[in-house]
Amino acid sequence: MRFADIIIPLNLPRPYTYRVPVELENQLQPGFRVAVPFGKRKVYTGLVLAVHDDKPSYSDVKEVLEILDDTPIITQDQLQVWKWMANYYLCGMGAIMNAALPGVFKLQSETVIKRVEQEEDSNDASLKLSDQAFLIFEALQLKDELKIDECINIVDKKRVMPIIQELLYLNLAELQEKTEDQFRAEKETYIQLEVKSDEGFQQAFESLKRAKKQSDLFLLAIQLIRSKKKLTRKELLSTSGASAGILKALLDKGFLSQKTVVVDSFNSEIDSLETELELSPVQAQALKEIEEGFKQEKPVLLHGVTGSGKTLIYTELIQKTLEQGRDVLYILPEIGLTTQIIQRLKKEFPKSTLVYHSKFAANERARIWKHLLSADREPKLLVGARSAIFTPVNKPGLIIVDEEHDRSFKQYDPAPRYQARDLAVYMGASLKSKVLLGSATPALESHFNCLRDKYHRVELNSRYMDVPMPKIDTIDLKKAYKEKQMKAMFSKELLQAIETELAHDKQVILFQNRRGFSPMLECVRCAWTPQCKNCDISLTYHKAFDTMRCHYCGYQEKPAKSCEACKHTELKFAGFGTEKIEESISELLPKARVKRMDLDTTKAKHAHSKILHAFSNKEIDILIGTQMVSKGLDFDGVGLVAVLNADNMLNFPDFRAYERCFQTLVQVAGRAGRKEEQGKVLLQTFQPNHPVIHWVQNLDYQQMSIQILHERQKLLYPPYSRLIEITLKHKNPQTVNQAANKLFSLLKEQIHQHPVLGPAIPGIYRLRNLYQKSILIKLDLKKDYKRAKTDLFRACEKLSASSDFSSVRVNIDVDPA
Ligand code: ADP
Ligand code: ZN
Ligand code: ZN
Repeated sequence: MRFADIIIPLNLPRPYTYRVPVELENQLQPGFRVAVPFGKRKVYTGLVLAVHDDKPSYSDVKEVLEILDDTPIITQDQLQVWKWMANYYLCGMGAIMNAALPGVFKLQSETVIKRVEQEEDSNDASLKLSDQAFLIFEALQLKDELKIDECINIVDKKRVMPIIQELLYLNLAELQEKTEDQFRAEKETYIQLEVKSDEGFQQAFESLKRAKKQSDLFLLAIQLIRSKKKLTRKELLSTSGASAGILKALLDKGFLSQKTVVVDSFNSEIDSLETELELSPVQAQALKEIEEGFKQEKPVLLHGVTGSGKTLIYTELIQKTLEQGRDVLYILPEIGLTTQIIQRLKKEFPKSTLVYHSKFAANERARIWKHLLSADREPKLLVGARSAIFTPVNKPGLIIVDEEHDRSFKQYDPAPRYQARDLAVYMGASLKSKVLLGSATPALESHFNCLRDKYHRVELNSRYMDVPMPKIDTIDLKKAYKEKQMKAMFSKELLQAIETELAHDKQVILFQNRRGFSPMLECVRCAWTPQCKNCDISLTYHKAFDTMRCHYCGYQEKPAKSCEACKHTELKFAGFGTEKIEESISELLPKARVKRMDLDTTKAKHAHSKILHAFSNKEIDILIGTQMVSKGLDFDGVGLVAVLNADNMLNFPDFRAYERCFQTLVQVAGRAGRKEEQGKVLLQTFQPNHPVIHWVQNLDYQQMSIQILHERQKLLYPPYSRLIEITLKHKNPQTVNQAANKLFSLLKEQIHQHPVLGPAIPGIYRLRNLYQKSILIKLDLKKDYKRAKTDLFRACEKLSASSDFSSVRVNIDVDPA
């Protein structure tokens, strides 16, 4: 008898073993998806990890229901990476499967499938369906959505998943997805000529002799296609005035064909980069050094100041790799996906670039996935945010991690809590891929790896064409307030500087690390502030919606009219966010064209690219934003960048606060004066003499790293240790306290060689109605830390297994960030 270990897409500690039915024995291999029963009458899509003859010790072994694929859906290389991840991040393979696979590949009992609205007369696809799939298709025409269980009833058969898959692949149905901000990729249908030779045309017109309308339409289509290459269906129908039926006749006769493709949002032209760029001598030198690093089989860190032209170096390397017939994987922060970089890559490599975006509809992601798995395809450049690391690129010749210091490479929740940059480095070593990390402000971990000779560092210290780095000055807020020189959140000096820039037709970026209008509404008598009902956190006022909102769980309410504590009716706003800045600057400089870019203004589809587009076309004078404005933007017209309050980043209670503050400020500053003239940066702060502010002013990465590393070494923080943070959560505060104490003593006993700290209350005690306690372990790299990891994992399992605490959630975060 044969058995298979199957990964189930749930956060379970280990795979489950199922019996393989005799008729499937020859087919089943690792990497195949199967439908398996799990729990009470539930069916899940599982993934085969291994097939073997070892009968499990328990008696009630269930059987695999069916195979869902003809070929494996993930490769052996990927499985290898998953195994490493499970081991390193102390998480289950099911969680990894969940993070890695597009939703379409994970049907389960509760999945809801929805009808996809079909264009008129494009129901041809349904003709390709099997009889049973057609039954479900029909049912979907009557009812917009169906559960898998309902489908089982319709076809009267348990093995329904392959049937549903047919519908998904033909885009006749889609999965309902839980994420809110999902946008559907826009589609466009193009008309193509199927007749190629003169002879063919003659015959075609001959056969259309008695169908004047068709013959006219065909002629028009030929003319339009010859004159402009790309002809959309819409355009053809509107230009000709012909009915869809006439077009259908031509399609049916095979003279024309139509093809629906997904047009993504990255086609809007922000950047008109027509000319071939050539590497400057400095860039060429850097490229050479990078390749030397690759020869030593080390990951390379390209530490190049903002505006030094790192992208062009990436492009050169991508070109070479593709020419060698190998794939390239390029990962970048989520927000970078909607910007210029993608457009540059698409322009440079129009045939090879694939963008893998978590916001694309699931079947689009599945399509890219399947394409990557197909046997004899051309080499591809796959670009995406952190989850792109999971795609089945084929032993990539090069992996690029752009803006490698960015926090978005780390997934916090749910498990797997992985760091995509680190995963890239692991993949590089195990798949023999070259790895290039790039940043103007490298993470101290990466910098440290260079110091230890694990990575090879290449520097680019000047901007392209030797454009000077921006001049960074501070404005002392304490002084400005004392001398009554403040208008709203602007010092007189800053306002003047903004006006000067605008007078010279330059653009201005205003940065504030906080969105919304005001962080807090406060009682003037007793300082009471409204709190979230689910979390221990103050609500932020959003003026555009006139609501108070929790930035953690999304809870919202109308602003209070009086104090809940002392009933006083005078409440005032304290502090400010981007929304309030927008209002104030519009009042102070009514003529300026002002726009805000933060999470609230970029929710709508394409909103982000639209703002950038307008800014690049100089339709905006002042752009106000959060972190979003600091990431990778390249505009020539920005004369001044101002940070309205540098202090809230400095005062953040985290051992990485200074490093982060430095990185953010240097990145924001880097948006100023990127071409020709020197840009100006003004930092408003209450602490102009703070060391971080000095390092920023001098763009002194070296000093920053020396000082901070020194502190980290003293306190045994990364990179001198490896942190593991365990968070326990429960709705009852007593239970969570007891559980934390119990785990703490277990850990103290088991891994006494390493400091175990806590249990402590994390930044927020109650979050989404769950009370939290955390324990921090500093694994001392000089001691046996791998063993400690295993022991720690066992201790957590032991806690979860005890009946008192089985309902306590235990999250393990390896390398928390
Ligand atoms: P970084 O990513 O290092 O901050 P970019 O790659 O965005 O810098 O380059 C900054 C600007 O300089 C871009 O507008 C880019 O087009 C321009 N640039 C860089 N290298 C060259 C080159 N060799 N020739 C012409 N323009 C260049
Ligand atoms: Zn009060
Ligand atoms: Zn909340």
